[in-house]
Amino acid sequence: MTSMSDERRRQGPKGKRLSPAEAEEFFARLKKQNPEPKTELEHSNAYTLLVAVALSAQATDKGVNKATKALFAKVSTPEAVLALGEEALIEHIKTIGLYRGKAKNVMAAAKLLVEKHNGVVPRDRDALQELPGVGRKTANVVLNTAFGEKTMAVDTHIFRVSNRTGLAPGKGVLAVELALEKIVPDAYALHAHHWLILHGRYTCIARKPLCPVCVVRNLCRFKDKTKEALLEKARSVGASRGEKKIKLPVSRPAGAGARKSAERFSAGRATKN
Ligand code: SF4
Repeated sequence: MTSMSDERRRQGPKGKRLSPAEAEEFFARLKKQNPEPKTELEHSNAYTLLVAVALSAQATDKGVNKATKALFAKVSTPEAVLALGEEALIEHIKTIGLYRGKAKNVMAAAKLLVEKHNGVVPRDRDALQELPGVGRKTANVVLNTAFGEKTMAVDTHIFRVSNRTGLAPGKGVLAVELALEKIVPDAYALHAHHWLILHGRYTCIARKPLCPVCVVRNLCRFKDKTKEALLEKARSVGASRGEKKIKLPVSRPAGAGARKSAERFSAGRATKN
C-alpha cells in the first residue's frame, strides 16, 4: 500500500502528477466513452498488423489503410510478400511517405520471418525488434493488439497526453512508457494505449486541445487548457457549413454526444502516428 508520504514524494512538491486514484478515475472515464477501443489500422492477422504499423511511421492511419486495402487483399503472409517482390510492393505503398525505405524493410523483415520463424510473427520483444523497420513502439503494438499483452506503445499522441495531463510525465518515449507501466491500473492496462492514442488524436489534439469537451478536464494538470471561446468559434464555423449545432458541456465530464462533437470538430485534421 502506498503511504501518504510516499505519494507526496512520487508526486513531487508541486503535485504535478496524477495520483493513483486520479489515474484510476482518468481511465474509468475514457473507458466509459469507448469500452472497447481498437487500433484504426486495418489488418487481418498479426503479420498484416506488423506491416501496417511499420508503414504508419510518419504517416496517418487513414493513408496507410488506403494503401494497404488492395495490398492485404492480395498478400497477408511473409511468404506471399516475398513472392510479390519489392517493385510490386512499392506500387501498392507509394502514396505513403518514405515508401522506398519502408518497402525495403518490409521485404527484409519478411525474409527473416520465413528463415528464422517459419513465417510466424514471434511473440517476443527481442525477436520482433530484430526485424528490419521494427522498433520498440511497433513491437509494443504487435504484442498488445495481436497477442493481448499489457504493453504501452508510446507514439506522439500518448507522449503529449501523458505529459500534458500529468498522468505519466517523461522527457523521452521510454521514460513515458515506464511511467505509464507504473501508474496505469492493471484493469485498464490492456487497452490503455488505445484510449490514450484516441484521446490525443480526437480531443487532446496538439495545437488546440478540445478542453471544454474533455472528459478528464478536471483531473488534467495542463496549465493552458483551451477556453470555451475556441469551441464557440468551432461551433459558428460548423453552423456556417450547415452542420448540426455542437453542444458543449462545460464543467462536468462530457458524454458520448460531446465526444461526437469533438470528433466532428477534429475531423479532417490529419495527425501523425
Ligand atoms: S483538459 Fe485539455 S489538455 Fe487536458 S487532457 Fe483534456 S484536452 Fe488535453
